[in-house]
Amino acid sequence: MKINFLGFCLFALLAVDSQAQKIKINPGDTTSNYNPAALFSPQFYTDKGNEFHSANGEPGPKYWQNRADYTINVTLDTAAKTISGTVSINYVNNSPDALQYLWLQLDQNTYKKEARSNFFTGRVPGPNQHTTGYTIESVALDHGDVVKPVPYVITDTRMQVRLPHALGKGALKLRIKYHYTIPGDFGNRTDYVDTKNGKIYEIAQWFPRMCVYDDSRGWDTLPFLGAGEFYLDYGDFDYQVTVPWDMIVAGSGELLNPKEVLTAKQITRLEAARTSDKTVMIRTLAEVTDPTSRPVNKGTLTWHYKMLNTRDVAFGASKAYVWDAARVNLPGGKKSLAMSVYPAESVGPDAWDRATEYLKKSIEYFSEKWFVYPYPVAINEAGIAGGMEYPGIVFDGINDKGKELYWVTAHEIGHNWFPMIVGSDERRFGWMDEGFNTFIDIYASDEFNKGEYAPKRDGEYAPGGGNPADEIIPILNDPASPPIMTAADATPEKYRHPLVYFKPAFGLVLLREQILGKDRFDYAFRNYISKWAFKHPQPDDFFRLMESGAGEDLSWFWKGWFYNNWVSDIAITAAQNVGSNATKGVKITVVSKEQLPMPFTVELKYKDGSKKRHYLPVETWMQRKVVTVILPDDKDVESVTIDPDNALPDLNRGNNSVKVSPPTP
Ligand SMILES: [Zn+2]
Repeated sequence: MKINFLGFCLFALLAVDSQAQKIKINPGDTTSNYNPAALFSPQFYTDKGNEFHSANGEPGPKYWQNRADYTINVTLDTAAKTISGTVSINYVNNSPDALQYLWLQLDQNTYKKEARSNFFTGRVPGPNQHTTGYTIESVALDHGDVVKPVPYVITDTRMQVRLPHALGKGALKLRIKYHYTIPGDFGNRTDYVDTKNGKIYEIAQWFPRMCVYDDSRGWDTLPFLGAGEFYLDYGDFDYQVTVPWDMIVAGSGELLNPKEVLTAKQITRLEAARTSDKTVMIRTLAEVTDPTSRPVNKGTLTWHYKMLNTRDVAFGASKAYVWDAARVNLPGGKKSLAMSVYPAESVGPDAWDRATEYLKKSIEYFSEKWFVYPYPVAINEAGIAGGMEYPGIVFDGINDKGKELYWVTAHEIGHNWFPMIVGSDERRFGWMDEGFNTFIDIYASDEFNKGEYAPKRDGEYAPGGGNPADEIIPILNDPASPPIMTAADATPEKYRHPLVYFKPAFGLVLLREQILGKDRFDYAFRNYISKWAFKHPQPDDFFRLMESGAGEDLSWFWKGWFYNNWVSDIAITAAQNVGSNATKGVKITVVSKEQLPMPFTVELKYKDGSKKRHYLPVETWMQRKVVTVILPDDKDVESVTIDPDNALPDLNRGNNSVKVSPPTP
């Protein structure tokens, strides 16, 4: 979800904290805590690949997943602050199992006084920071001609629907009538807030949604506590939202009835935006308070949206919105439309005036580099949830400006790739969501406007603003830090940004830039995205696919970086010319002092000032803690440095360089 600038403070604390427990550093020391057999054990995967999840990490020939299509019709009551209406879910069981019951997610129940989410961290909501959650008015099976009530049980944020007959392969239609009170500014991801020209509503997790039934664990019924985010099946959404006449609704997907809810002028401007790379105003600041910017001036209007092949939809609604848009150019000549809606307070040349540009450029970059954005529209919405991501719409900060607005926009829309296109289970594996997204954001930031905001350094990635390889050290060197492979909800808040965002993102950078190289990494990673687009990969699918696609046994890295919090410290302890006349090469002695050695670069500096590099593979460390290697050479070497770019997360850089000593007679 959000870029949390608090992350910086937490990280600083962490850094200070861990100094005390640091592994002792002594540059001359060649002792080692490294055990090669533990790093390179022959069996990494506990299960074999099967016909559902292939050994090469791709969906198998019998891969299946269920489907949920939603038709939603609700009213936003601005007086009562409620959402009320009905949702019809066409649920398709493609699994080999007959389902005797269904499970649904009732996320609004997380705001109830007795919700489990109040107990899982030390952060206790204030007395006014609760709602009564969902009121479920009825649950019925819709047979077309007859609609029959069906028994259900609600437990915290889940609802079990007990079917009269098990659902085999095939579909059923569930109809649920419900209402709930919209949480205020405590909502975190969904809320409302006052602005000068009216309230802004950010509406998300606003209807009962199907839990995922998969071949990893059957029904995935983890409650919604707030840290672990979402795991949802794909389907088509057709939804209608009725609001007072003066409100604009900015929703996921395509607006189906522009003539009913927009003015002729706005429709013409939207058409102009579809062919413009420059941002076009759809509703100017001056027009926000002008009643002629609405097609009617009384009663209510119903906004009708449709979004195909998505896990979810969300929307913003306000009479305070300024609105602009620009075309998004996608590979293969495809187009999409980037739009921003924001209040008067957010207007400004360094602020939301550029929000659509940031959104457009991010989508164009991610589409070109990884996978084509699949939706006709993308919206950047200003509110207080910022930043939060939903398919086709992101909620960013009303007060964000400059690089913070760029970074949060790129990050939140980047979630459309992880986990909205690649539908991993972020409630369980937050790193496959935040970590992967943070990784692609790093390179997006390098590219944007010739590096205007590069490099990406924020609450998510190297929060101190320095070298990520240095900033990750306090985490690696913190004995209390859990591994990345910790349940999303079980990751202590202090470690959430470092472990769910920073460490996995930097791990992928290491894989790409130090271990596999860009070409091999990108080929395999693109294959991962396209093979699992709109499907549900598990962590092993990712690990296997990267290994097969890049042609490398990476189990040592998965083990050290993801399953453990192992530390890297490579030291060079000696370098000398092999012969007396410097033509027979230079002999170096390197030591892996800790449990996670890496492949590494060695730089020779010659007496004439020139330099040459060698790359030593991870196999260097397969059998030995202390390794002596002869690097072929025919010039006089003055000094030898390992990891000369400080690219590796090396615990002690004080033991990375030595002067060449004369050969021993
Ligand atoms: Zn995020």
